[in-house]
Amino acid sequence: MADIVLDHVTKRFPDGYEAVKSISLEIKDGEFMILVGPSGCGKSTALNMIAGLEDVTEGELRIGGDLVNDRAPKDRDIAMIFQNYALYPHMSVRENMGFALKLAKVDQKEIDTRVEEAAETLDLTEHLERRPANLSGGQRQRVAMGRAIVRDPRAFLMDEPLSNLDAKLRVQMRTEVAELQSRLGTTTVYVTHDQTEAMTLGDRVAVMRAGEIQQVGPPQELYNEPKNLFVAGFIGSPAMNFVVASVEGDTLKLPFVDVPLTDDMRDAMKDHAGNVLAGVRPGRFEDAALVEEDKGGVTFKTKVKLVESLGSELFAHFSSEQSSDQIDKVATDAGLDELSGSSLDTIVARLDPASKVKRGDEAELWLDPSKILLFDPESGKRLNTGRADATDHEHHDGEGDGRTDEGDSDSVEDSDSASEGSSRPDQSEDDSHGAGEADTDTPSEGTDTKSEEPGGERADQT
Ligand code: ATP
Repeated sequence: MADIVLDHVTKRFPDGYEAVKSISLEIKDGEFMILVGPSGCGKSTALNMIAGLEDVTEGELRIGGDLVNDRAPKDRDIAMIFQNYALYPHMSVRENMGFALKLAKVDQKEIDTRVEEAAETLDLTEHLERRPANLSGGQRQRVAMGRAIVRDPRAFLMDEPLSNLDAKLRVQMRTEVAELQSRLGTTTVYVTHDQTEAMTLGDRVAVMRAGEIQQVGPPQELYNEPKNLFVAGFIGSPAMNFVVASVEGDTLKLPFVDVPLTDDMRDAMKDHAGNVLAGVRPGRFEDAALVEEDKGGVTFKTKVKLVESLGSELFAHFSSEQSSDQIDKVATDAGLDELSGSSLDTIVARLDPASKVKRGDEAELWLDPSKILLFDPESGKRLNTGRADATDHEHHDGEGDGRTDEGDSDSVEDSDSASEGSSRPDQSEDDSHGAGEADTDTPSEGTDTKSEEPGGERADQT
């Protein structure tokens, strides 16, 4: 086991493109670190540099204290696990799992022991003599993991390892990977573009955008205290809603409702002139008919464009009432257009499933403004803390508000169903190409040796 340190690491490709821009990251010994970000942000390139599959252009890369910039992949003592499993189709599971050890001329008896131990850990014992083609996608991915485990490397590097699995299996495997990592205690770096995976798997998450790390922290911290608009919009499902807002006197004017300024917002606005971008998590809304009168907050009427009912939660979409000029300007300045889950002309509200709101209704909705986040529309930087004022609504969320535990939060655990049903697409479309293609993918030589409270912002209810 070992720590992994990236010290101002840059990757410039021969064509001059800078895919990773001077990133610094310390992954502790035994830590499970997730690199997450949209396609093309440089996460795979960063992982490949750690693996030694890509050269480091500038900066220092250390594994277990050793500078490894110039060390060959096979001498880094790491194991990589890929999306396409990269299993040898002509070998049995046993041979696949033991192959790297065989190459390393480990004694056959020792290979058998290690393979059998790993197979037991991964529930593969009864499949040891089978070929990969005859296994399910989940079993193949477990074989790929087994092959990494038997080597007992200093670190696991995983690049979207679950992407080829269907949605249900992915959730199951996610749990298995998390348990396995915690049991083995091996330093792990895991690349994904899926924020749900990022939030549910890792000890810490590094959010990347355009070759740079935006923020590193435990999932809850990223959710509750995003440093900027990009992180706020990327983490959470359905995504945070963003609207252009202005402050007039003691009022924050959102396009669809006016809300009283909290002390937190007032402090933030002292040093800020002009409009702001207000970020509102879907869970801050409720059907006004289901909210007790003394609960504070504001209510407003809006036409419901769409209702998505997922059983334990219900999403109502309504117009943000923003002009298209405002939308275009904001999208360009603050980079919102890079966030696939954030639509600026529609607001998504997460309502109690008991709500009777229907598509086309002129509905009365309620909003708790206490945790609205304000962002600078140019830099995207967060301006206020987003913590509710002591006198504010927090205690109202406590009891008797008629919500169920599962339904009332922008829960990261819940977000799989949310993401499937709502604005942030997940990877279901990948399901069409998994298994078959994987086995034809003979590993390259280097494959092995190189080759607010997410239980929601409303956890205050418990
Ligand atoms: P994805 O999830 O789509 O794989 P990613 O975040 O892993 O995205 P990378 O594969 O690391 O992204 O690529 C980062 C950027 O570097 C991309 O814009 C990509 O086009 C560019 N890039 C990758 N390989 C090369 C190369 N050999 N030469 C030039 N540019 C490259």
